[in-house]
Amino acid sequence: MSRLASLASRALAIFVVLWLGLAQARAERSEVRIGVLAYQGEVAAAEDWTPLAAALELALPGRQFVLRYFGLQELWQAVADQQVDFVITHGGQYVALESRFGASRIATLEDPRFASPGKALGSAVVVRAERQDIVNLADLAGKRLAAVAPDAFGGYLAALRELDEVGVGPGDLATIDFTGFPMQKALQELTEGRVDAAVLRACMLEELAAAGSIDATAFRVLSSRAENGFPCQLSSRLYPDWPFVSLHHTDRALAKEVATALLGMAPLPDGVAWTVPADYQDVHALYRELKIGPYAYLRDTTLLAWLKRLWWVFVGLFLIFAAGVVHAVRVEHQVAARTEALRKALAERDAAQARIQAQQQEAEHLSRLSILGELSSTLAHELTQPLASIANFAHSMVRRLDSGRYTPELLAGASRDIASEAERAGGIVQRIRSFSKKRVAIRQDCAPDELVDEAVALFCSMLAPPPEFKIVSDLPPATLIEGDPLQLQQVLLNLFKNAWDAMQALPSAQRRIDLEIRRYDSRCTIRVRDYGCGLDDAQMASLFEAFFTTKPDGLGLGLSICKSIIEAHAGRLVASRPDKGPGMCFTVHLPAHERTA
Ligand code: ADP
Repeated sequence: MSRLASLASRALAIFVVLWLGLAQARAERSEVRIGVLAYQGEVAAAEDWTPLAAALELALPGRQFVLRYFGLQELWQAVADQQVDFVITHGGQYVALESRFGASRIATLEDPRFASPGKALGSAVVVRAERQDIVNLADLAGKRLAAVAPDAFGGYLAALRELDEVGVGPGDLATIDFTGFPMQKALQELTEGRVDAAVLRACMLEELAAAGSIDATAFRVLSSRAENGFPCQLSSRLYPDWPFVSLHHTDRALAKEVATALLGMAPLPDGVAWTVPADYQDVHALYRELKIGPYAYLRDTTLLAWLKRLWWVFVGLFLIFAAGVVHAVRVEHQVAARTEALRKALAERDAAQARIQAQQQEAEHLSRLSILGELSSTLAHELTQPLASIANFAHSMVRRLDSGRYTPELLAGASRDIASEAERAGGIVQRIRSFSKKRVAIRQDCAPDELVDEAVALFCSMLAPPPEFKIVSDLPPATLIEGDPLQLQQVLLNLFKNAWDAMQALPSAQRRIDLEIRRYDSRCTIRVRDYGCGLDDAQMASLFEAFFTTKPDGLGLGLSICKSIIEAHAGRLVASRPDKGPGMCFTVHLPAHERTA
């Protein structure tokens, strides 16, 4: 007996130790809380889901899985309060949790009765078979409907979407009678004639008929549609089965462990298993179309609601607009600044050009005066001659008048001579005056022959004795050049004067200037050739540079001014040595055109 007692006490001790150890082990295991939508009550849900918790604990020995049962609202609150780590609920609530709390599905329930877990839930809208007046969903307008609950998925919402699509919204029904769970209550309402139609979860009718609870032929499913691989009658399209949902605050590693366990799990006793997460976009579409759940805001179309919902779009647009305005203002400012800078630069350039032009005119004027100055000694002599002749004629007329030896013819002849000499002197003065006057350049058509003749006349009138001019011209008579006659004459006079200077060593009878005026297509050339001292290569190279001179009293500006005058007339001034004999050639090239009638 004492042996038996000792055995019993030993067994008790072992049991106590084991029990304590087990309890401790349980306490050490971390708790994982799964919130379950218990739409049919806690007892029914516990029956469905306890095997799952057990299977998970088996797969993850370090974890203790605790199932908590909620209605839709309570489950929502539990997620908001982070009272659960995972959620098992229908697709409708899942998309709402996804939108609001960033929940994500890690697996989808796979029912062996259905071909695809993505097409497992739907509604059957049922009428009594004898109701010939109700054939399809559209006929329900104005009729009474029974459904489970406003937020039941298969028991209401899936059907509501189809009704909505055929233009029968909840407001178009006479009444909606929400019976609550169990779902048979809705069917009972129909059987007892309190409603015209009832919304049931797809397959419910078939299940009840199989269980012998109803006579399936007493009912008819409206707008029945066939779905491939789906064994029951349907009024709606099909949606994915329930997801196993991980929450935003759920530990990532835990979610991964649970997902792996779910996917690797053998089917539960009722045959269901878990598979890779299905696509719940169509559930989103349902909510969006019905403007409920996460899309309830779509019902609110007031401006304030729009602003609240799309504030970030408005803020974005405002920022883009503000950036655009800032950019436009900046660009405008830059454009204004650059325009101002450009305007200033242009004004400065114009002022500089005006200064240069004025200086050039001044230089040209000085150059003309310088030519006159250099020729003035002989000019005085030139003027003295006609004046002396005039004086002689006048004296001789006075003497003849005094002595009475005169005839009218004699007096008339002497007067004509006086007039002609006076005109000659006046012509000289006139030409010099017009040559020396200061004025702005002009542009007009000029005949090259006439320009040359006038320059030669002016030059010869200032020199005694003048050099011999030999002029050869093959210009067609209608040839014209466009330019300033005074400036072109100045160029010719400068060339003549230089030729004259270069021939100073020669006896005056040998001082000769050859002029050739020719036409080559669109050009006219005037070549001035002298027989003077000529220039060596080095002098030729610097000929047109300002201040290059070989003369003791020279300025060295004449040729450079001539060159710039000719270039301003779109022409060229070229210096060369003659093919034969001494001296230099200067050729003026100018654009020519024909006189138009
Ligand atoms: P300036 O006559 O005041 O010296 P120019 O510019 O008219 O200024 O002439 C520059 C120089 O070119 C002259 O000093 C002279 O040496 C040379 N030159 C110009 N024309 C001739 C010419 N026909 N023959 C020889 N030398 C010339």
